[in-house]
Amino acid sequence: MKKKRWNDYLWIAELLYLVLGLFNILFAWLGMIFFTLPLLVAIFGGSKAYCNRYCGRGQLLAILGGKLKISRNAAPPAFLRSRWFRYGFLAFFMIMFCLMLFNTYKVFTGAPLKETVTLLWVFKLPWQWAEVGMVSPWFAQFAFGFFGVMLTSTVLGLLTMILFRPRSWCVYCPMGTMTQGICQLRNSGKLKENGKSGDFPVSKQKFL
Ligand code: SF4
Repeated sequence: MKKKRWNDYLWIAELLYLVLGLFNILFAWLGMIFFTLPLLVAIFGGSKAYCNRYCGRGQLLAILGGKLKISRNAAPPAFLRSRWFRYGFLAFFMIMFCLMLFNTYKVFTGAPLKETVTLLWVFKLPWQWAEVGMVSPWFAQFAFGFFGVMLTSTVLGLLTMILFRPRSWCVYCPMGTMTQGICQLRNSGKLKENGKSGDFPVSKQKFL
């Protein structure tokens, strides 16, 4: 049996993140690590090492769907893998992210703080019990908004894990789409420099 390494336990960090946000919303800021690290690895390393080895969410979905068998283990529909859906979903996700930043800006300029977490871009969940602390209202507003983004992607990940294969979320995960696009751009540039074809294998296929 393959010996476990520290990074095989990063699913615990993912779980911990979700639990901590229930008690103090400011922990939501830690999610910026999950947001920026994959991009930095792709930009500077030109690889999907984060997805393949260090993503706690991917590991958690694999454990729940694979080891605990909470997955139908059915092939995801073809449209989920299509380029238009993956990039369309990324565009939608980024628009909603920008709206969340705009709401933070509004609070920065004097609008009242909204102590709610928005799930699936529609449902406003009251979140007043979570500690806010003595921070600027805009700092707390970003935390509420960002936790909503993380919670929404977690719920979508769990739903697709149950309906299809354990890591089906990885097929259209916005972070995965962005890092894959960056790697393809980087590597096609390198291949062109060497006079080879710009095609690059679609590593998302490995999750299917
Ligand atoms: S595609 Fe998304 S969820 Fe899947 S391993 Fe990569 S960053 Fe994690």
